[in-house]
Amino acid sequence: MPATQSKDYYAILGVKKTASAEDIRKAFRKLARKYHPDVNPGDKKAEERFKEISEANDVLSDEKKRKIYDQLGFYSDQIDPAQAEAAARGGFGQAGRGGQQGVPFDFGGFDFSDFANQAGAGGRHQTSSSGSGWGGFRDIFSGIFSQGGHEQHGPQAGTDLEYQVPVDFWTAIRGGTARLQIQRQEVCPTCKGKASTGGSHTCPECHGSGQVTQMGGRMKFNIQCPQCGGTGKVENACPTCHGEGTVTRTEQVEFRIKPGTRDGQRIRLAGKGNAGVNGGPAGDLYLIIKAGTHPVFTRQGDDIHVTVPATVAEAALGAKIEVPTIDGRAQLKVPPGTQSGQKLRMRERGVPSSAHEGKRGDQIVTIEIMVPRVQDERSKEILREFAKLNPDDPRATMWAKV
Ligand SMILES: [Zn+2]
Ligand SMILES: [Zn+2]
Repeated sequence: MPATQSKDYYAILGVKKTASAEDIRKAFRKLARKYHPDVNPGDKKAEERFKEISEANDVLSDEKKRKIYDQLGFYSDQIDPAQAEAAARGGFGQAGRGGQQGVPFDFGGFDFSDFANQAGAGGRHQTSSSGSGWGGFRDIFSGIFSQGGHEQHGPQAGTDLEYQVPVDFWTAIRGGTARLQIQRQEVCPTCKGKASTGGSHTCPECHGSGQVTQMGGRMKFNIQCPQCGGTGKVENACPTCHGEGTVTRTEQVEFRIKPGTRDGQRIRLAGKGNAGVNGGPAGDLYLIIKAGTHPVFTRQGDDIHVTVPATVAEAALGAKIEVPTIDGRAQLKVPPGTQSGQKLRMRERGVPSSAHEGKRGDQIVTIEIMVPRVQDERSKEILREFAKLNPDDPRATMWAKV
C-alpha cells in the first residue's frame, strides 16, 4: 500500500493543538452541519470533507486516541498506547498484533435534518500536513468509512428509485393509467440475495493470514486485513450477481394517475425500488409527474387560464359570450366597460383537486379586445361620430403621473 501524507486533524477541525474537548466537539458539530451528505446531496467534495472531519473528530474526541495521535502524527486502532509512547521516544520495532477493530465513529443522537438552512460560514479549509514524516492510515480509514463491504452481512435496505414520467395534459386532469419502463435491482434468483453460494476461499489480500502490514514511517504495524476482517477467508461470490446479491432488471410498471394530478407531483410506489440485500426491505419507487401543456389552456395548480378575444362592442356594451373550458363550451358574462387584459373568474370551472375530493379550481379568462379593421365608409363615419361624443383623452391619467 502506498504511504500517504499524514493529516493534520487539528487543522481539519480548525482548532488549536491545545483545544479542549469542548472546543473540538463544537468545531466538529459546526463543520458536520455544513458538510453532512444530507445537506449536500450528490456533492462529492462535501462528502470527502465530511469523512475527513469525521475521521479527525473520531481521533481527537477520544482522549486515548488523541494522545497516540499527538505522539505519532497519525492514529490506528491497532496501535497500543505503550508502543506509541515508545515510538515517540524514538524506539522502533514491531507493533503488537491483534486487537479489536473499534467502531470508527458514531453519529447516534445527531439530527442533521434541520441544518440545511444554517450552514454557516467558518471553519478552516486547509488540511495541511503536520510534516511528521509518518505514513498515514488513510487508505484503511477510507475502507472503513465506505462501510468495508466485504464484512457486512446484515440485512441492508434497498435504495429508492426516482423516475420522471411525462403525462399528457388531459390525462393529468382527468386521470388514467400510465406505463413506464424502469430498471431496478432485484434479489438475485441464484443466491436469493445472499451474494454467496456457500463455501469460501483464501483471502487474496492477506493470503489467509488475516493480517496485513502497514508502514508507519520506519515502523511496521500488523493490522487486521480489511478485506476478510481478519478471518483469512472470503466467501465465494455468487456467479449470477458477482457477489452483489442483486441483479438489474428492466421492468414495465403500470400505475394510476389520479384526476387533477399536478406537474411535479410525486407518486410513491412502496417496495417498488431496488431490492434489499440479505433480507433487507426493498426501497420505494418515486414517480415525478411531468404534465404536458395545451395550446389554449394553461394550468396553474388547479386553476385554468385562458385568453379569450372579444369585440369592442361586446366589451363596451357587455355581452354573454361562449368560452372554452376543460369540460367544453360555457357561457361567460362580460360586464359593460370591460378593458383589454381584464381577468374574469369562472368559479369551479378549473381542475378537480387531487388532494381534496369534490373541490375544483377556477378558470380565469383574460379578455383580449379585438379592434375592428374598418373598411367601409359607413363604419368609419360611425366611429368618427363616436369619437366626437367621447372626447376624453385616454392618456390623461398617464400624463398626470409624468
Ligand atoms: Zn484477508
Ligand atoms: Zn447471486
